[in-house]
Amino acid sequence: MKIFKFGGASLQNATYIKNVADIIQKHSHEHLIVVVSAMAKITNELEKLHRSYMMQSNHTNQILKNIISFHNIILQDLFKPTDEVHDTVNNCFCFLKKKLLQPPCSDYDFEYDQIVIYGELISSIIVFHYLRSRGIDTIWIDIRSVLKTNSNYRDADILFDISMSEVRKKFYDKGIYICQGFIGSDRSNNNTTLGREGSDYTAAALAHILDAQSVTIWKDVPGVLTADPRIISHVQKLDRITYKEAIELAYYGAQVIHPKTIKPLQNKNIPLFVKSFFNPDEKGTIVQDTNEKIDLPPIFIHKFNQALISIMPKDFSFIEEHNLSTIFKNLSDAKIKVNMMQQSAVSFSVCVDYEEQRLHKFLTAMQKDFDVLYNIGLTLITIRHYTDEAINSVVNNNKIMLKEISRKTARIVIKTVNSN
Ligand code: ADP
Ligand code: ASP
Ligand code: MG
Repeated sequence: MKIFKFGGASLQNATYIKNVADIIQKHSHEHLIVVVSAMAKITNELEKLHRSYMMQSNHTNQILKNIISFHNIILQDLFKPTDEVHDTVNNCFCFLKKKLLQPPCSDYDFEYDQIVIYGELISSIIVFHYLRSRGIDTIWIDIRSVLKTNSNYRDADILFDISMSEVRKKFYDKGIYICQGFIGSDRSNNNTTLGREGSDYTAAALAHILDAQSVTIWKDVPGVLTADPRIISHVQKLDRITYKEAIELAYYGAQVIHPKTIKPLQNKNIPLFVKSFFNPDEKGTIVQDTNEKIDLPPIFIHKFNQALISIMPKDFSFIEEHNLSTIFKNLSDAKIKVNMMQQSAVSFSVCVDYEEQRLHKFLTAMQKDFDVLYNIGLTLITIRHYTDEAINSVVNNNKIMLKEISRKTARIVIKTVNSN
């Protein structure tokens, strides 16, 4: 059995969906599980919808209308007006509308998961019906019925023990299955999501549970590259990397692979292929362990929208275990992920993904005992297998706010000279 994962970039419009169907059709004789994410950037739109709903703003209806009309255009392009798919998609939107009419509860992340899951549900319904209309026999699965997670809304972890037997039963027969990535349900059957870009994680989890032969994630790039080509123009494709290298790249924020993807695959030695959906016959990158030594060039990972927080105890006490534990407890309570940190005698600095709500919660919790200053709009650049030349190329005239160099990895937080 193989697992294919198609992300938003491969499902942008009707033409792209036809291309995805061409790729699947070539494998129609295999036992194949196709995991899809929401189309194009629909998750961003659903995030806007959720924010607007939480604020009970007047824009909510308009945001929803835009999401509906995006899908309607695709439906019109792919199907006849009388096809059943229109009603099925419409039913999903009716559920969503009903949800939006109810007042939100105070749990921001819980409400996020009840709304954002519709991107994946609708995408999978459209792909399923389109494949059927092309005569490709497929089975649609609502992954929430089998993939159980904890209740850490917006960043849920899959509960492998509980999910295993149901997943194995659901996907047992040979055939092509279409299911959603990124979403699941908790023990109380509330919707959960696995963190942005989490469909790769779903694909890896299913592969682990089902002992799949391989996982292929289909991308708009030829494979894993030495940098995001949107940021650095001269890049090189990596033909092969180890699981460890892939974990490092994903951990530091290379968007091409979700950080939680590798462990479930590595544990069962299942190869991961990263391939281009534009050129499906090209080799792409293979992620797997090998005895050969692989020499890698510098690989750049950019993380934008970073905040650098400096924390100083109000009583000028040293930064040591007891105040570090308060700092980390408050970071964890505010669900803030630390990307980099540095300690001095009376101050502690952390570089984190900037998110207003979460930062606000953290600052409120800290203000009694600590002075907290922060800078936003920063960029964290990680260079694996760095050279001096590679470091110089990214620093340029930018202001270095924080720097950390280890044996294989250089990490630099910069404030670009032209930003405020
Ligand atoms: P998906 O459609 O699966 O959601 P994404 O758009 O999230 O795909 O991920 C693919 C994008 O990741 C590429 O278009 C590329 O801009 C970006 N990217 C970032 N770092 C890398 C890298 N090292 N190699 C390849 N692509 C990268
Ligand atoms: N649709 C979700 C997102 O955009 C999950 C994914 O694409 O993997 O983050
Ligand atoms: Mg993505």
